[in-house]
Amino acid sequence: MKDQHNLQLFNTETPAEAIEFIRESVGNETAFVGFSGGKDSIVTADLVKKSGVKYKLYYSFTGIDAPDVVRFIRQNYPECKFLKPHRTFWRDLSVHVPPSDRLRWCCTSLKKKAAWRLPHKKRIMGIRAEESSKRSKYERINYFEKLDHTHYYPIYHWKDWQIWDYIKSNNLKYPVLYDWGFERIGCVICPFHSEKTGTKHQQYRKYYPRFFDKFESAIADLFRKRQSQGKIMFYDTPKEFVEAWYLSQSARWYAKEEVEEKQEEL
Ligand code: SF4
Repeated sequence: MKDQHNLQLFNTETPAEAIEFIRESVGNETAFVGFSGGKDSIVTADLVKKSGVKYKLYYSFTGIDAPDVVRFIRQNYPECKFLKPHRTFWRDLSVHVPPSDRLRWCCTSLKKKAAWRLPHKKRIMGIRAEESSKRSKYERINYFEKLDHTHYYPIYHWKDWQIWDYIKSNNLKYPVLYDWGFERIGCVICPFHSEKTGTKHQQYRKYYPRFFDKFESAIADLFRKRQSQGKIMFYDTPKEFVEAWYLSQSARWYAKEEVEEKQEEL
């Protein structure tokens, strides 16, 4: 049954169908189009352009972006507006706990907040079900009542090969990182890259080592500051924490006792 469903989606979600979906969704309004410089948003931006609807392209600049992606956007999408957060990742890192897969405060403070402030009610994103199990549970159209925004995902059921097929057959440019072997691109330092082998962080470190030096130095400063305040840390050294963070070993910042004390206080 599931195969039949997938087959149906595969058959219906062609570029022509996606263009029609965009036209019907946006109507006469001006759509916000989220643009990351990655392959999915390159395809989405092209489909939106072909649909003929009114739209504006926005990139959420985090300050920990891969420089080659930023250069690619500036060169190939000069109309794309850069949204900048009030505070940098480094400034926020000095007052928060380090971001983790369970607590990704940076996505909210660096990416989403600046975009939320814009007046567009209709928002088109290059999100795909295949990207993660969380995303596979989304709908193709989602209404967010608090913000009064509706998100539309024209390529929601597209597979990776369809994305590359579209890019190649339409002669679209893409960031050099894909030729270097990156499968997904985003912030250089990101808890999403933490996994058992550490491969993704190693890949980014190879090309952008200075970001890692800065991250490790910021973590070391924070760690020492907390220790000097008498706080109990989970690891003995910042190096141990960072290594666990890179390998997604549930790197913990505070010691268990302190978390329990905090919970009791609440
Ligand atoms: S580092 Fe990762 S979690 Fe943080 S803003 Fe960038 S993409 Fe989002």
